[in-house]
Amino acid sequence: MTKFFPAAYQANEGSALKVNKTFYKRLAEETDKRKLVKSIHIPIRTGQAWTVPAGHIFRVVATEGAQVGDFNMWNLNNPRERMWASRTRQLQGAHVSTYDRLWSNLPFIRPMATITADSLADYGVDEHGARVHDLLGTRCDPYINKLLTNEDFDFHCHSNLTRAILPYGLTEFDVHDVLNVFQCTGLNENDDYFMKACPAKKGDYLEFFAEIDLLCAISTCPGGDLSVHLWGPDAEDPLKVCRPLSIEIYELDSELLTDWEPPKSPDYKGNHGLGFPKWEDQPEAKTTP
Ligand SMILES: [Zn+2]
Repeated sequence: MTKFFPAAYQANEGSALKVNKTFYKRLAEETDKRKLVKSIHIPIRTGQAWTVPAGHIFRVVATEGAQVGDFNMWNLNNPRERMWASRTRQLQGAHVSTYDRLWSNLPFIRPMATITADSLADYGVDEHGARVHDLLGTRCDPYINKLLTNEDFDFHCHSNLTRAILPYGLTEFDVHDVLNVFQCTGLNENDDYFMKACPAKKGDYLEFFAEIDLLCAISTCPGGDLSVHLWGPDAEDPLKVCRPLSIEIYELDSELLTDWEPPKSPDYKGNHGLGFPKWEDQPEAKTTP
């Protein structure tokens, strides 16, 4: 029995799903045409938010080796527009790498960022069917943890992200399904979600091009590199496998951005059938007082 079945979402010519690889390859390769404008250190078990102007590059770096980062992203100018993990899974894949794009929610639905480089791209798919940079799962959180362990723990990714975005006027309700950067996951034969030890080495990175002005946040997962069991009879404290991450933000030479412009949302008229339709040979709706 073949396992291969074609993707449901196929791009037409001219669709935003058809990525101009030549453009993004140049951004990734011509590193002499970029300038580091900000570097952020993210200690273990914390969250940090940062902004990126459209047309800039940012990198998530495993500064000291294997560590998972739970990543969220909003339109800086309208945080109701934010990353939509499940649609990105359908449009790009359940794990993302170079030239994949992270899409926003309805009614905005456009690429917010495009991945320009991934030092773990060669990991591919391993003997268990696992891949890196996970969109299947979501953030760890104190509510599920309480259900599973009956303990209160305030430094799960959901909480770290919540604290990180408070200075931007956002709350717990703005935290959304994440991209698990550097996280290695898959589905087993029972369709159960599994997580393996993070394969990142010191210096590994995932690099993004900001298609619009962005507010981003990341949590250094308290599970660290996920090499120990977090729940169940074999659970251990993963503190010893927690490492920091860092963020680098680069400004690009304008020459690299000739002919580029931020993507637009689809121009659907947005009526959703709220105007009452007139069907032929049918009486118009009447309201009885
Ligand atoms: Zn986590």
